Amino acid sequence: MKPSLPYDFSTLSIWHRTTRSFPYLHSNHLADVPASAKYLIIGSGISGVLTAWNLVESGIKGDDILIIEAREAVSGASARNAGHIRPDAFRGFPGYTAFHGPEQARKILENERGVLDDIKEFVHVHNIDCDFNLTTTFEVCFSEKFVTEAADALEAYKRAGGDVTQVKFYKGDEAKARTRVAGTLCAYEWTAASNHPGKLVQWILNDAISKGVKLWTHCPVTKVVKHRSTGDQFRWDVHTPRGIVATETVIHCTNAYAAYLVPELSHFITPNRAQSHAFIPRHSLSGENTLKSTMALRYDVGSFFSVNPLRNGTIIFGGTGIRSLSENPEGPSGFMNTFDDTTYSELIAENAKREFNDLSREPQAVPLRHGEGLDHVWTGIIGMTPDSVPLVGPIEGLEGQWICAAFNGHGMAGIFRCAPGLVKLIFGKPWHDTGLPECFQISKERIERFKEPTESSL
Ligand SMILES: Cc1cc2nc3c(=O)[nH]c(=O)nc-3n(C[C@H](O)[C@H](O)[C@H](O)COP(=O)(O)OP(=O)(O)OC[C@H]3O[C@@H](n4cnc5c(N)ncnc54)[C@H](O)[C@@H]3O)c2cc1C
Repeated sequence: MKPSLPYDFSTLSIWHRTTRSFPYLHSNHLADVPASAKYLIIGSGISGVLTAWNLVESGIKGDDILIIEAREAVSGASARNAGHIRPDAFRGFPGYTAFHGPEQARKILENERGVLDDIKEFVHVHNIDCDFNLTTTFEVCFSEKFVTEAADALEAYKRAGGDVTQVKFYKGDEAKARTRVAGTLCAYEWTAASNHPGKLVQWILNDAISKGVKLWTHCPVTKVVKHRSTGDQFRWDVHTPRGIVATETVIHCTNAYAAYLVPELSHFITPNRAQSHAFIPRHSLSGENTLKSTMALRYDVGSFFSVNPLRNGTIIFGGTGIRSLSENPEGPSGFMNTFDDTTYSELIAENAKREFNDLSREPQAVPLRHGEGLDHVWTGIIGMTPDSVPLVGPIEGLEGQWICAAFNGHGMAGIFRCAPGLVKLIFGKPWHDTGLPECFQISKERIERFKEPTESSL
């Protein structure tokens, strides 16, 4: 698919709608860009702002760091997700093993577990008001096929030395009672969290700006080319509609859009549009009946609904939004292969409504009151890679350019370690010091492995 810049007029998520007074939302939106910056970060999602924050923590002067954002601040997936910080406890193990082998697969899952601990600590230490709620999550299994898949994944992860001591398993009536989901055959439970991702990322950005970091919004980077002069320390010229910035270091935190500026990645990073919904619960899911845990309602691999009850009682439904792969006429899964987050799928919204009604378990005859039920729908773009893990590190052949992107819909469970890891690499530390799984490392070989053979090479 042809790479793209972020679309104008994107939908606003519930997180955007509840943080419109963020003072840096439209920072420097009319000003020309500075002529130079030592470190230039493209993208103000969690990858970009956390990279800036960690550069400052590592001793770089805030003044030396410039973040450029195509739209308003934090307008990408980081403030469009379903508000879940849900480490994969075992389920993705076979899929990761198929690409990267069991040891790397185990490291990927352990990394996600560690990220939850890191975010919990970060929010606590800085006393961040982002509705962080450490709770548990259920994997709710609806089909025999998924029951088997989940059991096999758990066993395989255990055999590979994975720690599953904190995963609890329930079946039959106990699973139904604990999850309060009528049709479940069995369920797994482990620790996860819910938060307001917009408030979390805006806090980090605000803190970085208070330490001197500069932010230019509504300013898409259109190309990065070799610096025009040889007489100074700069290596790259970063072009925008409001001028050119000369810089030593470019850090691409552009998620699904990365290939627009690094065309070598156009076959490797592809966009998937995901959709989320905010529901105002009925009697059966409010007050003393408020859900305490988050959930993934799993019908099949690739067919699921995520359910995230927020502290204020609103329930967020995300996931692929389908019960079976044949349910979505718009694409092979609930995710659409597009950069267009200006609109949403009515069909997926209807599916979410059906799921919400089933979860509510109120008699059909009881109508929704005005204000109950579906309150808001939005979409966001996830950056996918063919081997299901992100790209982190220096871009070979483009010395001074770095990337931290394409989190395959798992960024909230990964970036809190990837961005600090990238900063260590920028300071010349070896990969080992990042603590990240080796398979996250970007390399020419990894990118080219997935290139379609051209006719001449056949
Ligand atoms: C609906 C939905 C549900 C999700 N659910 C979950 C979940 O349950 N768990 C989980 O872990 N993750 C989830 N994710 C994924 C998670 O939100 C992302 O992985 C994460 O936010 C990526 O962060 P990022 O900073 O890398 O990218 P983004 O937040 O997308 O930030 C990239 C930024 O770069 C900007 N940009 C791009 N190109 C340019 C350019 N050329 N010039 C200037 N700026 C540019 C964009 O405008 C954007 O602001 C979900 C995502 C969506 C959309």
